[in-house]
Amino acid sequence: MKSMPALVKSHAAKGLELMSVAVPEIGPRDLLIKITKTAICGTDLHIYNWDSWSQKNVKPPTTLGHEFVGVVEQVGLEVEDYKPGDRVSGEGHLVCGRCRNCRAGRKHLCIQYKGIGIHTNGAFAEYIAFPASNAFKIENSVKDQVAAIFDPFGNAVHTVLAFDVTGEDVLITGAGPIGLMAVSLCRHIGARHIVISDVNDYRLEIARKLGASKAVNINQSSLSDTMQDLEMKEGFDVAFEMSGHEGAFENILSSLIHGGKIASLGIFPSKVTVDWNLLVSKGIEVKGIYGRQMYDTWYKMSSLLSSGLDISSVITHEFSFDEYEKAFQLLQSGQAGKVVLDWAK
Ligand code: NAD
Ligand code: ZN
Repeated sequence: MKSMPALVKSHAAKGLELMSVAVPEIGPRDLLIKITKTAICGTDLHIYNWDSWSQKNVKPPTTLGHEFVGVVEQVGLEVEDYKPGDRVSGEGHLVCGRCRNCRAGRKHLCIQYKGIGIHTNGAFAEYIAFPASNAFKIENSVKDQVAAIFDPFGNAVHTVLAFDVTGEDVLITGAGPIGLMAVSLCRHIGARHIVISDVNDYRLEIARKLGASKAVNINQSSLSDTMQDLEMKEGFDVAFEMSGHEGAFENILSSLIHGGKIASLGIFPSKVTVDWNLLVSKGIEVKGIYGRQMYDTWYKMSSLLSSGLDISSVITHEFSFDEYEKAFQLLQSGQAGKVVLDWAK
């Protein structure tokens, strides 16, 4: 049996192991993809740290990784749309295809999806066996580094396009990679003021470069002062919650205009207390955002990039896969945007 390197959650404890595992066999509807680059997601960090969420969701041994780009090496017998040599990324949510939402074309709301690199073996390896139905061809003009982050880019696109932002004032809480991509996208599609908040100055600096009107360290200044600076009188029209921190939700509620809208992507570690009466009296609309629309968001991502959207400065570091410890520590420190691992050795 042919073997390959893979980054595996091998034991129910903190850390990851670089192991030699068998190259996966493909089924009739799968692709065997040779991985070029992968990116590390906050979820991978949770699994690395073996927090309570990971303990409930991951069963070692599991190969991690769901943000990837690679080249098709082999196609299953029933695959018609792909051939060896195609460069692809892919949707990491494997849906059941049988529940009501799947049958109604709302696959991103499947009630029993599985995540690659969480519930099944993922892309932090030389090869992945991947359903052709979930793959997405990458245009030649898109660099490998950017193609490797289509998954979180899709979270940003799905969230930002949930409400109309053209000519609107937008608040983004959280300047993690997804919040940063949201800044670029809001600028690209014609928002007016784009204010982003975080507690991390390294990331706020990237947000400024990407076109934020103001990047606010929420521990040092307030959103009401920022609004005054921008001569905003009644509040933000749209907010994107992209931090998963409770304080951010309070900031949003107090600075949104009456009738404002919230698209909420961030995952909170525990239940959140919300001033519900404020939400009601302001007539605020809230939409939860999960994953990416399958596959509308993927087509939008591709078109947005070819229409000139540039998200490349969100990627701040690249390491070879065997330097994974360094990469995980760096991400943990917060002194990074998106961190990419290279597998093309
Ligand atoms: P990240 O953890 O890298 O970024 C979160 C940022 O929020 C950090 O830079 C942090 O410093 C900042 N922050 C902390 N406290 C804050 C506060 N009070 N106000 C504003 N910012 C604050 O995460 P990411 O990878 O960019 O993802 C963003 C969020 O989206 C995370 O919560 C992640 O779990 C979640 N997520 C959700 C989905 C989904 O499908 N709903 C998918 C991917 C990620
Ligand atoms: Zn389903």
